[in-house]
Amino acid sequence: MSLDGLYREIILDHYQNPRNRGELGDANAASHGLNPLCGDEVNVFLKLEGDQIDAIGVTGRGCSISQATGSMMSESIKGHSVAEAREMAQAFKSMMTEGGSLEDRDEMADLEALQGVKQFPVRIKCTLLPWTTLTDALDRYAADGESR
Ligand code: ZN
Repeated sequence: MSLDGLYREIILDHYQNPRNRGELGDANAASHGLNPLCGDEVNVFLKLEGDQIDAIGVTGRGCSISQATGSMMSESIKGHSVAEAREMAQAFKSMMTEGGSLEDRDEMADLEALQGVKQFPVRIKCTLLPWTTLTDALDRYAADGESR
């Protein structure tokens, strides 16, 4: 797999020094995601305060693309509202599958490095896994709220 040099460095940096790595003891939302095509696993833990994502923890194993994406995603959504995080998930998916752009989204700058992965269609799922896991955790939290 060959990616443009700068992009590759950003991805490798997140893979080797993942941000917000680890479980959250006081998480009130969580989800587990699996990409059987590549054997990737991602766990997302969220500490939500009202509509705000106060903290996020990510664990998992698998290819560098999936794990680096989890790290980048955690940085982007931390401190943002649930609605903003969902919007970022949409924007990222649009970039990977519909030619959308993240140009006006400063908090998602590192994620632009994953554009090069589009040349390898089978790996696109690796970049979407952390986001679908995040969305699932948010859905579970919303469902819990309805029954509270
Ligand atoms: Zn993968």
